[in-house]
Amino acid sequence: MELPEAFLLRLKQEYPADYKRLNEVFSEPPGVSVNLHPRKFSGIRPETAVLWNPSGFILEERPTFIYDPWFHAGAYYVQEAGSQLIGTLFSKLALPEHPRVLDLCAAPGGKSVHLANILSGKGVLVSNESIRTRVGVLQENITKAGWDNTIVTQADPAAFGIHEHLFDVVLVDAPCSGEGMFRKSEEARQHWSPELVGFCAARQGRLLADIWPAIKPGGFLIYSTCTLNQEENEAQLQQLMKEYDAEAVALDLPDTWGLQAGKSDTSCWYNWPGNGGGEGFFAGVLQKSGSMNPEGLVRTTPTGKQRFHEIREWLLPDVDLVETEAGPCIVNNLSKTTADQLKRNIRVCQVGTAAGVMHGAKFKPDPALALSVHFNTSLATPLSLEETIAFLCGDGVIPSGAKDGWNAVSFKGLPLGWINFLGRRSNNNWPQAWRIRNR
Ligand code: SAM
Repeated sequence: MELPEAFLLRLKQEYPADYKRLNEVFSEPPGVSVNLHPRKFSGIRPETAVLWNPSGFILEERPTFIYDPWFHAGAYYVQEAGSQLIGTLFSKLALPEHPRVLDLCAAPGGKSVHLANILSGKGVLVSNESIRTRVGVLQENITKAGWDNTIVTQADPAAFGIHEHLFDVVLVDAPCSGEGMFRKSEEARQHWSPELVGFCAARQGRLLADIWPAIKPGGFLIYSTCTLNQEENEAQLQQLMKEYDAEAVALDLPDTWGLQAGKSDTSCWYNWPGNGGGEGFFAGVLQKSGSMNPEGLVRTTPTGKQRFHEIREWLLPDVDLVETEAGPCIVNNLSKTTADQLKRNIRVCQVGTAAGVMHGAKFKPDPALALSVHFNTSLATPLSLEETIAFLCGDGVIPSGAKDGWNAVSFKGLPLGWINFLGRRSNNNWPQAWRIRNR
């Protein structure tokens, strides 16, 4: 593999003792790993676990995920092993029971899905993406994860600055020069230059300065990149510690994980390519001085069991269903109030789980409803593999046992979506953008 000369030179300067070994691992093939959904995946777990993440697994070879219905149902997310460190660091923070969490650079959504799985419905997770065209895939992945304490926004990071002290944790998984993509991507190797590193570092500095005010006193910043140079990594954290009330956080990560602690006095770690199945990743944690004022989770005003009974009959008991501008939604109070606050200056694209729309007395379910962790799985009609693939391609399948009207359909116990059975034919509301195009 041809690596950029200036990159190798820099690697040698920054890591003289490790240079030879590091240079060698770049010529080894990239790995493939998944992160399992705690409520959706019920199959046999692969043999090799990701060292730092109990829900992460390394696969021996890359399957064709697109033809696996469980991939579409959100049973797992294909996520690079090093990136899975974010969930681990998050789990180690001392947080209130219902934290407000922001993932600032969230698309396509791997780390957001991991954080949502760890929160498991507690607190609220705001997943933001600044680039408009990347929001769709983020919404898809958040919807498939099925948690109702989630918000998707589309805003420039600077827009969060006015929301002073709103978040207990902010994750900045910054756009970077992508040295951790070198094994996977020829394009990343071609695109890299010392100028790109400088450009990314300047942008990272701006992102971090923009977002710092939104962190609560006593709250945390998790900063990460998939690049390996110090300028984009430790130097960014050092700068924050110099300019702001930011402190390193003592977190104990076992030596057996093979991570390399940063050289500076910041709390940060590098996962070198090849270690633990990763491709090259950096993550650090800083805490804002001060003490946290924990917020409780006030339950959403009950809507009364008689309201939305057409929706409730598809769900497990005791779900917070509320009327929103977008129609009835499953959403907790903290998420709703957070979304209302953000709406002052931020484009809020999705709040909680959309349940569907009422057309007079008739209810049309939203695709998200079947993917919710609150969905009553036993009500879905099972499809065969062939029927499921046809469904995912957008066909109007008619499973045996289909009833007139809306039927939820599932594959091997995991609900996917809906068909509307009209006697001789059926309509399929699996979203166009999510469909398998290549049969
Ligand atoms: N966190 C994501 C995940 O785990 O799936 C990956 C994020 S990727 C490393 C960086 C993200 O930053 C991309 O989604 C990109 O669209 C976004 N981005 C690019 N330029 C940006 C900018 N100037 N400000 C904020 N975000 C930016």
